[in-house]
Amino acid sequence: MSAQIIDGKALALRLREGIAQEVDILEAKTGLKPGLAAVLVGEDPASAVYVRNKKIACEKAGLYPQEHLLPASTTQEALLNLIHQLNEDPKIHGILIQLPLPAHIESRAILQAVSPEKDADGFHPVNVGRLVEGDPVFVPCTPKGVIHMIDSTGVEIAGKRAVVIGRSNIVGKPVAMLLLHRHATVTICHSRTKDLPAVVREADIVIAAIGKPLFVTPDMIKDGAVVIDVGINRLENGKLVGDVDFERVKERASWITPVPGGVGPMTIAMLLQNTLESAKRFAKQ
Ligand code: NDP
Repeated sequence: MSAQIIDGKALALRLREGIAQEVDILEAKTGLKPGLAAVLVGEDPASAVYVRNKKIACEKAGLYPQEHLLPASTTQEALLNLIHQLNEDPKIHGILIQLPLPAHIESRAILQAVSPEKDADGFHPVNVGRLVEGDPVFVPCTPKGVIHMIDSTGVEIAGKRAVVIGRSNIVGKPVAMLLLHRHATVTICHSRTKDLPAVVREADIVIAAIGKPLFVTPDMIKDGAVVIDVGINRLENGKLVGDVDFERVKERASWITPVPGGVGPMTIAMLLQNTLESAKRFAKQ
């Protein structure tokens, strides 16, 4: 039987409508509009598209977007100055640094300069630590979206075997931590994992975050598994595909996310949600 599709676009739309309503209520009650500052250094076309989409999403949900499009020649010092300014700006409740930054800028120092109270992406070490402790403030957007998608299926996470393929700081590790906090038994695979297909075959829930087109094939999937595909890869013919061989894997899985229209739209919705939650915390102070 073919898997049911987890429609990230539809889920994200519903979330964004809910966020827009909450933004209105917050503004009516406190006069405060959640503000998100996006900082892009350089002219990477894919990054420019991401930043533009985030701005449009902010506007549609009634948030206040601020864009900082800086030339690739921007110095680390100039970037740090901008971040310090945004940290102090009362109109801003979320700061997003679009990665990757140019090679001459030390990304770690930049991410650490963002105030943990405005770290909408959840990449600051303070927020990473809080996430590991199980007391998160900002949860990274893509992992948060992944959990939301699993929850939308009604499948219970507790007690399940979950395999995360990929161990990056922005996806693999935080997703694994969130699944652990939800009482899954979690295994993380990476490029040195021995017999990866055998490990993945054990999983009731598979999260693919590798960046390799169509890497996950049906022989790796247990019948009835939930498969979440984070990967975004462009083939030579221009087609966008995930890390999962969707057409074939959907014949084994119970639930599966498509690419495009899966995790991607959820990431933006979660960014808006993180900014809204941050603005609410500021409103309480
Ligand atoms: P990274 O390149 O930072 O990490 C990739 C991970 O995959 C690494 O841990 C690497 O292992 C592992 N890996 C690579 N090749 C293999 C292999 N052959 N076998 C097993 N593991 C392997 O990627 P990201 O986490 O940043 O992103 C992953 C994918 O998700 C990309 O396609 C990216 O575009 C997409 N993405 C999508 C988002 C969305 O909103 N939908 C948001 C963020 C990312 P090792 O550590 O050993 O090198």
